[in-house]
Amino acid sequence: MRLDKAAKAAFLKEFVEAFVLSMRYFFRPKATINYPFEKNPISPRFRGEHALRRYPNGEERCIACKLCEAVCPALAITIEAEPREDGSRRTTRYDIDMTKCIYCGLCEEACPVDAIVEGPNFEFSTETREELLYDKEKLLANGDRWEPELAKRLELDAPYR
Ligand code: SF4
Ligand code: SF4
Repeated sequence: MRLDKAAKAAFLKEFVEAFVLSMRYFFRPKATINYPFEKNPISPRFRGEHALRRYPNGEERCIACKLCEAVCPALAITIEAEPREDGSRRTTRYDIDMTKCIYCGLCEEACPVDAIVEGPNFEFSTETREELLYDKEKLLANGDRWEPELAKRLELDAPYR
């Protein structure tokens, strides 16, 4: 196909404009990052994987009030509880079905003792559905793993609560 003079000029003009645009972006700082080796900073309010926290002496924070279970709009939380010998009330079962969770953060907001929190971890994809049925042991392990960061996030967010 032969192009006439006007078409050739238009083609050349578009080519030059595209080239200039490409060069302009070529020398700009990169907007993408090399994930997972590089990660963007996340907000202290980021709502990621759940964790159950402990006090510094190792005691569970959760007092089994069940407010988180009641407020959860997805009915993802299941709690069973009974009093201990010392009269304190603690959970015997604390499950979260992460396949139901919509990460609304209401459980964290409802908790009077900052026991259940949504942490910074967003890398918890699994190969099976069953692995997303979290029990108390898993949630406490998450709390133990992330505690320094969880405490820092709560401190940063405290002035706005
Ligand atoms: S984040 Fe929302 S949906 Fe998920 S467990 Fe908490 S209250 Fe339920
Ligand atoms: S995690 Fe918090 S809101 Fe839920 S039962 Fe325990 S103390 Fe109550």
